[in-house]
Order: sequence, then structure tokens, then C-alpha cells
Amino acid sequence: MMQPLKLYNTLSRQKEEYKPLFDDYTGLYTCGPTVYNYAHIGNLRTYLFQDVLKRVLLYNDFKVKHVMNITDVGHLTGDRDMGEDKLEKGAAREGKSAWDIAEFYTEAFQKDLKELNVLDPDVWCKATDSIPEQIELIQTLEEKGYTYKINDGIYFDTSKFPEYTKLSHQNLDALQEGARVEKNIEKRNATDFALWKFSPKDQKRQMEWESPWGTGFPGWHIECSAMSMMYLKDHLDIHCGGIDHIDVHHTNEIAQSEAATGDDFFKFWMHGAFLNITGGKKMAKSEGNFLTLASTFIDRGISPLVYRFASFQTHYRKPMEYSDDAIESATNGYRHLRNQVRTIAESAGDDKADVHEGLKAQFVAAINDDLNMPRAMAVIQETLKSDLPDAQKYATVVDFDRVTGLELDKVLEKASIPPEVQEKVDARIKAREDKNWALSDQLRDEILALGYMVQDSKEGMKVIKQ
Ligand code: AMP
Ligand code: ZN
Repeated sequence: MMQPLKLYNTLSRQKEEYKPLFDDYTGLYTCGPTVYNYAHIGNLRTYLFQDVLKRVLLYNDFKVKHVMNITDVGHLTGDRDMGEDKLEKGAAREGKSAWDIAEFYTEAFQKDLKELNVLDPDVWCKATDSIPEQIELIQTLEEKGYTYKINDGIYFDTSKFPEYTKLSHQNLDALQEGARVEKNIEKRNATDFALWKFSPKDQKRQMEWESPWGTGFPGWHIECSAMSMMYLKDHLDIHCGGIDHIDVHHTNEIAQSEAATGDDFFKFWMHGAFLNITGGKKMAKSEGNFLTLASTFIDRGISPLVYRFASFQTHYRKPMEYSDDAIESATNGYRHLRNQVRTIAESAGDDKADVHEGLKAQFVAAINDDLNMPRAMAVIQETLKSDLPDAQKYATVVDFDRVTGLELDKVLEKASIPPEVQEKVDARIKAREDKNWALSDQLRDEILALGYMVQDSKEGMKVIKQ
């Protein structure tokens, strides 16, 4: 009997046994990025946690329909509907159209996910593709008396939704107090939020649509309510994001969705903790000095899977600290793991074996305990160090890799070698023919720094991707 899957639900503030609402599949909605810049590795930590969640659901034999949105309009620089539209701001910064900016950064984001071996969602949906559905939802809210109009848009009156703080457990009085610094004096309550924003009268926006209330664009939160209901219908099982989404974005999604339908919105709400820069400072796109997957890993010849591996060292609900040392130690850790697996794979040869049930039970106990990846990684180590036959060790860790996604089944594959590595490999072959061992060693280190390892054997030199 497998350990049941338990997940921490932000709504109830405890671990609950996970069961889908309907037997056919689990509906999983993960809030996607606002595509006005590259994702930073903090954002990517959240997508890695969600990928683990999805893989754990699949490992538990649940079918999953995964929907991820792309916010390509309407997310203002302040979460509470003040400031500029992030897309239009990005367009101004780069001298491109808002549409081009959105397309460019959407592709960049999808490429990052591929590099991290994140499974593709079943549905990618863009906010700009569901404007009619968003308008319809706002109309329903209007009919039910939840909205009011002020100078710059149509707002949701949060005082009409008594359960407004059920996800965040915030103290509303303190919020009202803090809201005095806000500029929008027309709002009835500090927590009220825009459903539809009007285009400024004297200005044509690049992204704007007609609506029953005038030309404008949707507020940020309404897209996720509209698209999750559109693609998942009543399969509103799990909705995820980073912890910064709890107080505003997800709270507002719940308020407007439940007000509109009169029904519960998602059953499970899961949130990943932040990646912080050393000293506890949050990494944020708006700070402008963040680290990308390319700058931190790929351009330095480090496999992006090192970041995947690094993210498993900390439980997803605990803050993770970024430092060069942490990345260096993850680089070594991942290399070591691949070497261990390669050794047993080579020794196993063509032998086949079954997954070891006892170790599998331990692995499941770890992942089904609210995705405890540090513990799951320890079970992998235990497997590798056990005295089982190599073929069984290999079969077992490759099975676990359905969750870890570290490409442990590919350790024997020959990597296609980039030209700058090949050049050094050729130079090293020549150096060895010349018996110039010092140069040969130096080149080996340079090749290693680019993420490849050379092994000398009777058959010649083998080049392996780390
Ligand atoms: P955004 O593009 O700003 O909407 O963010 C995309 C995702 O990254 C959201 O789920 C955020 O909650 C999450 N996120 C933002 N900053 C961080 C961070 N420093 N660490 C982890 N996740 C983050
Ligand atoms: Zn969202």
C-alpha cells in the first residue's frame, strides 16, 4: 500500500491528503510569467517546484491536465493596480511593440523551461487570447452587484465578499492603514482591485480593447479566473504560484471567481517560497539586476540541470539562498551523481532488473510528504550506496528520475559537443601525442570548466557532458 499523497494547502494551512475532485483527471493551474523581461532564476525556482508537483502527481498515477497562462497584458508595476503596464513599459525600454516584447519573452521563458527539463503544460494560454471571456466574467460580477466604476476603471468591491482573507489570513485593518500611502483615493477599500482599466483619454495604448465600459484593458487578476474556468471547467483541483501571490493575486482571483459563480474556486492552493540573494534580499524582475538561467548557468558552461538539482536541496516551502558557493557545490554534486549513475549503468550493461520495492516505498514516503525532495535525494544516494546488483540500482534510480527529471537515464548518451569544446579536445589530443602533459592537464581543466569531462581509455578519449 503506497503512502497517500499529502500536500500543504495554503487555504487550510495544513497538509491534507490529496484526492482529485473527479476521478478522470487533476486540473492543475499554474500562474505563468508576466512577459516583459527574462524570467529570473527566482521565478524559475517556482516553476521547478510546480514541475515536481506535477511529476509527483503523475508518479502517483493521477492523470493531469496542466494549464499555464502567459500574462501579456494588464499587469501593472504595482500589484494593487497602480503604476504603468509592465508590457508597455518593456516595449518603451526596448523600442519594440508590446506585442513583440510579449512574444520574445514568452519564447525565452519556454526555452528556459525546456533547458530545466520542465514538462510542457497541456495548455499554454495568453491573457490577450481570452479578452471576451474576461469581459463576460466582469459582466457577471456587475450583474451581481460586486463592481463599481471610478475614474480609471471598473473595480471589485472587496467588502461585499466576506471571506476575502480566507487564503491570506491578513489583518484588513492593518491593510487599510498601510493603504493611506496609495494614490488611488477613489477606491472604496484599500483591497479593492481593478477588473477593467480605461485607456487614458489622451493616449492610444498599444494593447486595448472595446468593452461595455469603454476602451481599455483587463486588470491582471481576472485573466487567471477566466482562463482556469475556461480550460479546466469544474476540475479546479490545484492552483499554484510563488508566495507573493497569496496576499493579492490569488486572494483576488478567489474573491472574483467565487463571487461570480457562487461556488468554491480551487480546492488546493500551493505556494513556493522565494529564492533570495544572500542576505535574504528578494530577487525581483522589477529590481532590474536579477540573474537569468543563461547568465548564471548556460553562458558559464554549467548545465541548467545543476539548478534543478540545486533546487532539490531545499524544501519548496523554505526560502532558498542563492550564492556562487551554493551553485559551485551543486555543480559538483550533480556531476558526482551523474558519475555514480554512469558507473553502475556501465557495469549493469544489458542486464535488466526490477525497481527495488523497499527503496521505492521510502522514495514515495518522501515525495508524498508534501514533496520532500531533500529526503527523496537522500533515498537516491541510499540506493546508489546499497549492495543491490548494479542493474537493480540503475533501474531504481531511473524510475525515481520520473520525478527528479535529472536525465539520469541519459548518462550513457554521447553528448553533441559544442565547437569551443571540440577545439580544446582536438588540442588536447595533439598535446598528448606531443607528450605535453602539462598542456593536456590544463586543457582538461578548461574543458571541465565548459561543462564537459574527458576520460582517457584504451579506446581513446571519451568526452562526457556533466
Ligand atoms: P511574475 O512573472 O512576476 O508574475 O512571476 C512569475 C512567478 O515567479 C510567480 O509565481 C511568482 O510568484 C514567482 N516569483 C517571483 N519572484 C520570485 C522569487 N524571488 N523566488 C521564487 N519565485 C518567485
Ligand atoms: Zn495568475
